[in-house]
Amino acid sequence: MPNQRRELILEQLGLLPRWVPRHRARPATQRVNAAAQLAPQTQARAETGDERVARILRSGWVELKEMVRTCTDCPLHKARRQSVFGVGDESADWLFIGEGPGAEEDARGEPFVGQAGRLLDNMLAAIGLQRGRNVYIANIVKCRPPGNRVPEPLEVARCEPYLLRQIKLIAPKLIVALGKTAASNLLHTDASIGSLRGRLHEFQGTPLLVTYHPAYLLRNLADKAKAWEDLCFGRDAMAKLKAGERLNAGQFAFN
Ligand code: SF4
Repeated sequence: MPNQRRELILEQLGLLPRWVPRHRARPATQRVNAAAQLAPQTQARAETGDERVARILRSGWVELKEMVRTCTDCPLHKARRQSVFGVGDESADWLFIGEGPGAEEDARGEPFVGQAGRLLDNMLAAIGLQRGRNVYIANIVKCRPPGNRVPEPLEVARCEPYLLRQIKLIAPKLIVALGKTAASNLLHTDASIGSLRGRLHEFQGTPLLVTYHPAYLLRNLADKAKAWEDLCFGRDAMAKLKAGERLNAGQFAFN
């Protein structure tokens, strides 16, 4: 993860692509495996990890979607039916980020389309929003973790550049992290949702708020009221952001 963050900073400073000596670009085990697979005179040189990240971070929508569609860069590709890129208005003010596709999302290729998705749609409607209209929905990982388990750190790290590029291309005014996996990976913290909600955070300069994942709310109905508070908080924050106010992390919170 630190690697990807460093690459993003380099990209924003206009310092990519960063050339890395090939003998240092990948761990020794990967170099050995790659060397065993390549017939030097007949195959093109394999892309290094840094080159992959650089390519993702400078891609446009079309190239990015194709990269995700065909990606085999972490073990999650083995059991997926299809990768789930994300859906919505590509210049939305609101960006909702969940954990990863479930069974129904894996089958249909769209995030949040099962029971949890219907609840998310209802939550959006409650604050006057609608999927696809000024709203974009994405996940931390693009392929379904088997058995709906939490994605492993390696899987998150390999998938992270895709999400970073989506965020950069969308340039949302506000990010809403849905659930623990999204919050902990975007904010790099192990803190509980309960301790993170109720105030504004920041993700690389974009205001971010944390609320419960709709799948959690389906199992914990009592917390729906808290999610409603969070969404109203987001609606207030968005109104201020649209009015041109700068909302600093930690300085905008529930009364
Ligand atoms: Fe690639 Fe992400 Fe799918 Fe892993 S989860 S195979 S990194 S698209």
